[in-house]
Amino acid sequence: MPLPIAHSAAGIDGYLVFKKRNLDSPLKQELFLLGLCLFLANLPDLDFIPGFLCGEPGRFHHGPSHSLVVGLLGSLIFYRFASYWLTGISRKRILGCCLVSLLSHPILDYFSADTSKPFGVPLFWPFDTEY
Ligand SMILES: [Zn+2]
Repeated sequence: MPLPIAHSAAGIDGYLVFKKRNLDSPLKQELFLLGLCLFLANLPDLDFIPGFLCGEPGRFHHGPSHSLVVGLLGSLIFYRFASYWLTGISRKRILGCCLVSLLSHPILDYFSADTSKPFGVPLFWPFDTEY
């Protein structure tokens, strides 16, 4: 499992990869979009929280939150809210940032070594439940 630092770096990449095309957007909105990218890149690992509350941090980790389908839906939901507030940034750029940042998480986890059960991530959940 990559550390949050690696996921955050992927979120920064998700922000920067679309940065070149719109240099004149407001600074506050740029910072909000960068923060959103960092948040989305780490969002799937919030599945640790119910496990912490139960006393077993890994109990719910690497569940459906690490699926590409859930990532795609989550990206579209956050894009919808972000495009409402970020009026100075193009919608295409916001969508690209949301997609790259959130979908990078299960892909990074897929290619990393996992030392605890269940091994891997359910990348194609709900179509395939295999880890
Ligand atoms: Zn993860």
